[in-house]
Amino acid sequence: MVALLDAAPDAIFQVDAAGRIVFANATAVAMFGYSRDELLGANVEMLVPAPARRAHEGHLAGYRNRPINRPMGLGMELEGVRKDGHLLPVEISLSSVECDGEKLTIAIVRDVTERRRASEQMRQLREQFTAELEERNRQLEQRNADVERSSRLKTEFLSSVSHELRSPLHTIIGFADLLAEELEGPLNDRQKRFVTNIRDDSGHLLAIINDLLDISRIESGRMEYRPERFSLPEVVDEVVAAWELQISAKDLRVETAVPAGSWIEADRLRFKQILINLISNAIKFTRESGRIQIAAAVRGQVALVRVTDSGIGIAPENQPAIFEKFFQVGATTHGLPEGTGLGLPIAAQMVIQQGGDLWVESGLGLGSSFLFTAKGVMDTEPRPLAVLVEGVYREAELLAEYLRPAGVDVVATSSPARARKLTGELHPELLLLDLDPVSVEGVIDAIIPAAENADPGPRVVVVSSSDQKIARPRGAVQLTKPVSKRALTGALEGLLGGGFRSR
Ligand code: ADP
Repeated sequence: MVALLDAAPDAIFQVDAAGRIVFANATAVAMFGYSRDELLGANVEMLVPAPARRAHEGHLAGYRNRPINRPMGLGMELEGVRKDGHLLPVEISLSSVECDGEKLTIAIVRDVTERRRASEQMRQLREQFTAELEERNRQLEQRNADVERSSRLKTEFLSSVSHELRSPLHTIIGFADLLAEELEGPLNDRQKRFVTNIRDDSGHLLAIINDLLDISRIESGRMEYRPERFSLPEVVDEVVAAWELQISAKDLRVETAVPAGSWIEADRLRFKQILINLISNAIKFTRESGRIQIAAAVRGQVALVRVTDSGIGIAPENQPAIFEKFFQVGATTHGLPEGTGLGLPIAAQMVIQQGGDLWVESGLGLGSSFLFTAKGVMDTEPRPLAVLVEGVYREAELLAEYLRPAGVDVVATSSPARARKLTGELHPELLLLDLDPVSVEGVIDAIIPAAENADPGPRVVVVSSSDQKIARPRGAVQLTKPVSKRALTGALEGLLGGGFRSR
């Protein structure tokens, strides 16, 4: 029995009613550094550090009055004292037994030095970690404040420099205009050429300064928009007329397909500025005798405007960057970079700040389509609309060509995510997917949920080069290439009803 108690990992004491130790196991001897003889008969107080003795007496008396068994570790931080004076963190559990009519207390004492050390280390680590984190946060806040401050300073600097530059520039342009009018006397041919150069270049400089002012206004949130309702076809005609000179100089063919009775609700000046930017880019990046098309469709509250050119196009990897400030892919068709690389970021911000979206569909050498949405209304019945999803820009151009003369507005995209957004916003009658049957299922699954609220939702036509059937067609009609105009319009008549062709 004693051997068993000696083998226990905890110190075990038996203490009589007077507080004398009547038994101590081998662990108790090793833990406190006294010999067994020294321990036996000694008062247990000897093992309690002097400052805690008074409290200990109280504890012991309290315990004797109410001798309920007390488990170890009741959250008390207790200490014992070794013979050599070292303090020992301990946990104590007490129980009481009666032996030959005498009340004895059994105390089991566990040395928790290691546990306390580990938890102390944990606490220190936690404190250190918290302190480091706080320091990092402080540095980050400081850096944010610095960045904000320097960005505000830059914006203010841009804005004041632009204002300062504008006044003398207006004077230069004004006097050059006066000279060109020859009111102060006739100019010879060389002088006329010089004055024209002054006017052209200062006009260009003014455009750059205006761009800088716009960007600084946009970035500081000081751009104001005054929405009004205006006629979309009228504004498109105005902008095209303003570019008449450049259009005829390059012998470009400009077509507009903007439905009569469509209206925009936006800041008219800013809307024109967006269109001017897209059309001037289309002119700049399209070779002689090329084609530019400006089309629009209005559905519900959303107007979609598209400016398409047959120009040099933009490689997919450059497409995200053209909306960044000062980015230019390369030269214009004149072989020189023109402009500032600010036009698109300004236009995109103006569209976004008025609740719309501006994006590009293009491919190198394939021309480009810039599209944007704005708030719009239509006071006549809109034409049916098809969202056309193609693998690569203009891959499904033929299908669009079949549909447009049949009175269907077509908006094409090579991005399924964009198709999903357009479907959610514009509620097209038709989803036309020019994709292979393998990838088409995922695309249908991704797009259709966007239309789930629309009644009746779009009809889906899949055109693919393989006749492999789609596993989960979700009501889609499948046509195999080559698809003739008759086959496509026939399928649409079946889907959209007999009135389709006459619309
Ligand atoms: P920039 O003043 O240089 O025209 P933008 O921000 O309007 O600045 O355009 C940025 C770049 O995007 C252009 O330099 C050009 O490389 C490319 N880009 C814009 N529109 C077209 C387009 N219609 N066709 C081809 N590239 C274009």
